[in-house]
Amino acid sequence: MKQELKAYARSLGLAAVGVSSAEPFWRERQLLLSRQQSGFSPPLSEDEIERRCTPERSLPGARSILAAALSYFTDRGGGEELQLARPPEGVRGGRIARYARGRDYHAELRERLEHLASFLREVFPGARYAIQVDTGPLLDRAVAVRAGLGWYGKNGLVIVPGEGSWVALGEIVTDAPLEPDAPVQDSCGNCRRCLEACPTGALEAPYTVDTKRCVARLSQTRGYIPQEFRVAMGNRLFGCDACQEVCPHNCPREDPDVDLAWVIELGRTPFREAFGESAAAWRGRATMQRNALVALANVTCAEVPFPGRPPVEAEQLLASGLQDDRPVIRGHAAWALGRTGGWNARIALRARLAAEGDPGVQGEIRQAVRKLAREEEGTLGEELGGGTG
Ligand code: SF4
Repeated sequence: MKQELKAYARSLGLAAVGVSSAEPFWRERQLLLSRQQSGFSPPLSEDEIERRCTPERSLPGARSILAAALSYFTDRGGGEELQLARPPEGVRGGRIARYARGRDYHAELRERLEHLASFLREVFPGARYAIQVDTGPLLDRAVAVRAGLGWYGKNGLVIVPGEGSWVALGEIVTDAPLEPDAPVQDSCGNCRRCLEACPTGALEAPYTVDTKRCVARLSQTRGYIPQEFRVAMGNRLFGCDACQEVCPHNCPREDPDVDLAWVIELGRTPFREAFGESAAAWRGRATMQRNALVALANVTCAEVPFPGRPPVEAEQLLASGLQDDRPVIRGHAAWALGRTGGWNARIALRARLAAEGDPGVQGEIRQAVRKLAREEEGTLGEELGGGTG
C-alpha cells in the first residue's frame, strides 16, 4: 500500500515521499530548548515547543506521517516562474531566492498533498488526516529526516538524495497505520562549504544557525536592517541561497537578476501583479524596496571602485528614496547614499535632514553625513600629501 501511495505521489510531481511514525520528536525538543538558551533562535512558549514536537497535537490519534518534498525548480513541478523585469545588459541587479521565484510553494505543495490525502482515504477508508506546509506547528525538517526523505545538511537544511536542498517540505499527519521508512545516511562527510559561504557567519558551527545573523531572515524582517549586516546582504532582495549554491549535492543553476530600478519604483498594484503569487510577496512592498536600496548601494560600490563617484542613475534613485513617505525607505536611502557617496549625495542628505521629522531617519542621515565627511577629510588629506607623520 505504501508503494502505491509513493507511486501516486510521484505521479503528482512530488520529488520524494516517505513515512515517519507519529512518535514525539524528543531530540528536536531538546535542540529547540538549547538553541533558545544560547540565543540562536527566538523564544517559544513551552506549549509552542510541545505543539512543534508532538504530532498528536496536530491530529489526536495520529499514527503515521507522510512526509513529502516538492522541487522548487519551476521546470520540475514547482509551479510557474514569475515574470520579473531584468536589468539592462551588463548591469548587476538583485537576487531573489530560488524558492520565491515561482508561484508560492505553500499553495503548490498543499494542492498535491490534498490529492495524496484523497488517495490515502481510498486506501484507508475513514482515515483522518491533517495537512501542514511550513506554517503548521510541526517541524517539517525533523519529519522529513525521520521519514527517510534526506539528511540534515550542516546548514540545517534537509538534503534529499538526487534533489539536494532545493525542495519545499510538507506532511500529512494521519491515523492510518503506515510502516515507517528507514532514515537516509548523512553524506556531508568532511565538507564545510556552506559554513564558509555564509555571508554573515550565521553558520557558526555545523547544524547551528544563528537566526539573528541569517541573511534570509534579515531580508524578510520588517523595519530597519541592523547596519552591521547591510553590506553583507550584497544584492539580495529576498532570501539568501548562499549556503545552498555551494553545496555539492545541489545542481548549480544561475537565475537571472531582477532590475533594482524597477523594484525601487514599483507602485502598489504593479508590485501585487508581479509578486502576488510568490512567497516573496508576504513581507510586502516596503521590505522588498528597502532591500533594493541596500542592494543598489552595494552593487554600485562593487562595480565602481571609487565610492565618491556613483553612477548618476543610482544616485538619483537613492536620492528619490529620501522623499518617500515611508520612514523605513527614507532611512535606508540615507544609508545607501552614505555608502555610495558623492557631492550630490551630500547635498541631498543635508537637504533632507533639514526637513526630516522622523527620529529614526534623522539618525540614519546624520550617520551617513558624518561618514561622508570623514571620507572627504581623508581624501583631502591624501590630495594634500598629508599623513600622520
Ligand atoms: Fe553538507 Fe557540504 Fe552541503 Fe554543507 S555544503 S550541506 S557540509 S554537503
